[in-house]
Amino acid sequence: MKIAVPRERRAHEKRVAATPDTVKKYIAMGFEVVIEAGAGRQAQLPDELYAAAGAVIEPDLEKLYAGAGVVLKVQAPLRDDEGELDELALVPRDALLLALLSPFNAPESVPAYAHAGVTAIALEFVPRITRAQSMDVLSSQSNLAGYKAVLDAAYEYDRAMPMMMTAAGTVAPAKVMVLGAGVAGLQAIATAKRLGAIVSATDVRPAAKEQVESLGGRFVMVESDETREAETAGGYAKEMSEDFKRRQAELVAETIKTQDIVICTALIPGRKAPILVNDDMVASMRPGSVIVDLAVEQGGNCTAAVAGEVAEVGGVKIIGHFNVPSRLATDASSLYAKNLLNYLTPLVEQGDAPKLKLDFDDEIVAASALTYEGAVVHDAFTHNN
Ligand code: NAD
Repeated sequence: MKIAVPRERRAHEKRVAATPDTVKKYIAMGFEVVIEAGAGRQAQLPDELYAAAGAVIEPDLEKLYAGAGVVLKVQAPLRDDEGELDELALVPRDALLLALLSPFNAPESVPAYAHAGVTAIALEFVPRITRAQSMDVLSSQSNLAGYKAVLDAAYEYDRAMPMMMTAAGTVAPAKVMVLGAGVAGLQAIATAKRLGAIVSATDVRPAAKEQVESLGGRFVMVESDETREAETAGGYAKEMSEDFKRRQAELVAETIKTQDIVICTALIPGRKAPILVNDDMVASMRPGSVIVDLAVEQGGNCTAAVAGEVAEVGGVKIIGHFNVPSRLATDASSLYAKNLLNYLTPLVEQGDAPKLKLDFDDEIVAASALTYEGAVVHDAFTHNN
């Protein structure tokens, strides 16, 4: 069976869905792996490394896709209404497509996969259970984004992060506040601590308190009975009440005016990101402060953030980089490719030639498969069928 790995064509995407390492593993399982020429170039993975791992390098896109049983991608294939190239039309019927398909942002793509006869797996839907940890693309990518967010802030910050006691005087440590203490937020806390900052964080899930404190951060939170119910069974946050939002805004407003750097990471799955930093709060920060909004592509936690830009308001810089994991394309590709390998491996039935079997009784498959045999099968989208 052939695995096809195309070059990513969406804007701001430098990652690639297979590395020479994972190619070797697929070949050892009996797959044939075909990589589009240049697919790994922006992640510092030249064609020669893939060829040395046993992949076929294919410059022609139609030939790359022809006869593929599996297509590995980072982002959803372009559809005919999205530009000059209709990548989805190239994916063979019955092929298994694995990618970050972003179905909540593009619900119209789900019936399109069914119509194309493609079995589409949305990797962001892999459940946060112990058995699936090695397949968890959200964690592997958010962790890198949390780290990079702090480095991006440090780059734009015109002062030093650690305390420095020198003969010429003392430099005060930066005060960093992290909004949202999930995977990205916790890594941001750890990174800011390593750089010597004084770190505080907030979240709506009380479980985050212990994790923040174990990293040496101070946890601040609105005291409310509501937070006991704020975590879903999957570990995600829920949308909070208007009363909670008002009280949280007071807490953030009070804290933020003394901070130098704010890292925003708060998300609610399937919804717009909660607004946590409004224009008045930005105005209350002193010039030279920096805000990084990792949620900018989901609507943003900060009202002043602009996707793809470093905005400046009253001397406060607000960083809204697109696709932050892709800014660390080599490591992000390496971890993402391993996540894909770990997802695919249990589906492979060994024989003379590898075959794939999707078991819909398996909660990982059931949670992540959007379409199968020409139909939409995911509960969240069956009404579109
Ligand atoms: P996420 O990216 O959906 O959200 C980021 C953080 O923002 C979360 O901590 C969330 O609680 C917080 N948040 C949402 N609304 C907020 C608000 N109004 N104010 C402040 N904070 C707000 O979350 P994530 O990083 O993907 O993590 C989600 C959960 O999954 C966590 O509980 C994490 O520990 C858990 N997790 C479990 C596993 C596993 O067991 N395999 C792996 C990874 C993550």
